[in-house]
Order: sequence, then C-alpha cells, then structure tokens
Amino acid sequence: MCYAIPGKIVEIKDKIVTVEYFGEKKKAKNEFYDLKLDDYIYAQGGIVIQQIPSDEAESILGTWREIFFKLKETDLRLTREPKTLYQTANAIRHQHTDNSCCIHGIVEFSNYCRNDCHYCGLRLSNKNCDRYRMSIYEIVETCVYAVNKLNFKALVLQSGEDLWYDDDKLVSIVTKIREKCATLIALSLGERSLETYQKLYNAGARAVLLRFETNNPKLYEKIRPGHILKDRIDLIKKLTEMGYLIMTGFLVGLPDQTEQDILSNIELTGTLGTDMFSIGPFIPHPYTPLKDSPSSSIDLMLDTIARSRIRFPESKILATTALETLDTKNGAKRGLLAGANSLMINVTPKKYQKKYELYPNRAGAEEDVKERIDT
Ligand code: SAH
Ligand code: SF4
Repeated sequence: MCYAIPGKIVEIKDKIVTVEYFGEKKKAKNEFYDLKLDDYIYAQGGIVIQQIPSDEAESILGTWREIFFKLKETDLRLTREPKTLYQTANAIRHQHTDNSCCIHGIVEFSNYCRNDCHYCGLRLSNKNCDRYRMSIYEIVETCVYAVNKLNFKALVLQSGEDLWYDDDKLVSIVTKIREKCATLIALSLGERSLETYQKLYNAGARAVLLRFETNNPKLYEKIRPGHILKDRIDLIKKLTEMGYLIMTGFLVGLPDQTEQDILSNIELTGTLGTDMFSIGPFIPHPYTPLKDSPSSSIDLMLDTIARSRIRFPESKILATTALETLDTKNGAKRGLLAGANSLMINVTPKKYQKKYELYPNRAGAEEDVKERIDT
C-alpha cells in the first residue's frame, strides 16, 4: 500500500495499524511513532514512515479528494470487458490492488563496481566507464530534496558493488536521511554481508532491491563470474527474515532464455516473499561480453508483466526504467496497462545520470525530474 496521501488511523493492534483512505482500509506496520486513533500518517510499502498534523492532512486530503475519485473512475473504465492478455492482467490488477500505485525515487550514487557481470556497463572490466562517487553530503542532500521538495515517500539508494562505502559511511548516510526526512529507504547495493545489512536495518533502512537475475544456475554462474545463484537466493531469504521488504526479479531476454524459463523465474519471484516484482528487459551494452546479444522485445517484456500479474494477483509490479528505454514515449504507460502498478523515477543529480550506464540510452537520463513527475 503506497498511496502518497495521508491516511487516518482507525484501529491499532500492537504494531499494526489500520489506515483509512477515502473509505478504503489498509494495514501498515508502525515501528517509529507513538500513534493513537484519528492520527494521520503516511505509509509506504506497508510501513508507517511519517506522522503528520491533522490540519495539514485534512488540507491535503481536500485537494486530493476529487482527483482520487476521478483516477478511480478512469482506472475502472480501463479494466472493463478485458479481451487481451494485457487487458486481463490490468483488470486483475484493478480487482486486487485497486488504483494504488507506488512511486519510488532512485538515487544512483556510485558507478564503481568490483564485479564483472557480463550484461552490465558498470562492470569492472569496462575501462570506458567514466566513474563517479557521490559524497555522503551529496547523497543526503539529494534525498532530502527528493523527499522534502519533490514529495517522494520512498527512495532507492543504488550503486555498483562499491566497497569504498564501508559500513560506517553507509550507516551515516541512512541515519542522516532518516534524521532529515520521512521516507522509506530501500538499498540496492548488491551483495554485502549480513552484518552490514543488519547495521543498515538498525539505522532505519527497510527495503532491499536485489534481483536474482536468472534462476538458471549455469547461466547465472556464466554471466556473473565468481558468483553462484544459491548465495544470491540465500541472501534474499535472510534479508526477508531480518525484516526487510524485498524487491526482486530477473532479466527478460537473456541469451537462450526460453518461455519456460520465464515462467519459472516468475514463480521464483513470487515465492521468495517478494514485496515488489522488479523485472527488466535485457538491453545489450557495447562494452560487455553480451554486446552482440539481441535486446528483449517490448512485447516479451509486457507479456512477462501480464503473466506475473495473473499468477500473483496481489503483487506490486514495477514498470522499470529499462522498459521505458524500449519505448521512451509510452513504455511506462504500456507497462501499467499490462498489469504493473509501480514506477521508479530517477532523482540522481543530472551531471551523474548519463554516467550510470548499466545499458545504453537509458530513459530519463538527464531529463528534468520535475518534468518527469508531471508526465
Ligand atoms: N550492483 C547492484 C545494483 C545495481 S545493478 C546489483 O547488481 O544488484 C541494478 C540492476 O541493473 C541489476 O540487477 C541488473 O538486472 C540491471 N542491469 C544491469 N545491466 C543491465 C542491462 N544490460 N540491461 C538491463 N538491465 C541491466
Ligand atoms: Fe556491478 Fe550490479 Fe552491474 Fe553486476 S549488475 S556489474 S554487480 S553494478
């Protein structure tokens, strides 16, 4: 549940509160605030991230009321009489998750990486990658701007696997962000030790974005040299046990991937206790070993979103930036109409965006974030 609108507490049972949004009730976990009935809060990913004064909440809700019901009406119209795979998936999305949509901001704070993944432009061996690291101050200020000025309620901190950011630096970043603004903090740092992840949880991070990339162990070992699939899956499971919300998924269109592979990847994503599906199309990067492999088609990607929605009706499914790269004008919209219900907007400072080149011509790179929010 990620409406970026205030909700009113109508029931409290220990740490679980029931929150009402224009008559709809959702549950959320409260770990950070001393709440009572009729208080107003913001929640993200099922976690209370901010308490807000009643007069402020009522004024915001007054503005939202009309828009909320209009959006609901439009959403319902789009889901009537489904005919195609996408329309069916979209109708199921509406039936199970209504018109809620999660919007996350992503801060890509370093493109240094110690790994050599065959698909990725940030791989260690790519000497053409113009490397950068954002300072702790820059990262925190970027997040504060995204939350306090642009109203993001959930932020993903993403980087290559860059050990320059040791435990102390990472804890300091998370602690400072939590002190200065109310947001759900998701980490996308790759494989770090359980000890590191525990420290970051204690500092206030609550979600991790970590794809397993492919559930085929042989392919995994080939395209992620020095790594094995089991370690990745075990890490995801242990992070879930630690209390993190997990966003995971795989790459669509990797070499030799069959339809059956895609179905079993969907199955694994759903059964890992995933809070959000993050499934993206593979797009070849010219300075990687997979440079000559074809890109995933947009249809295959949309089919995969639709099938995920039909198989796991209540899930949150991300329409990724890579999907938008396949169709810059309408990719996000097509993803949402095929059953996705979540978006990621790049809030990295403009001067770094082009350098974070996982794959070429990324959608949104160097676009003004305010314009992006408006569209
Ligand atoms: N280093 C971290 C996070 C950054 S990479 C990690 O690997 O988890 C984030 C995601 O980018 C990866 O999970 C991968 O699925 C995706 N990615 C990398 N190269 C890509 C490419 N060529 N096409 C599409 N997605 C890519
Ligand atoms: Fe590094 Fe992540 Fe790219 Fe692999 S996918 S090379 S871990 S940034």
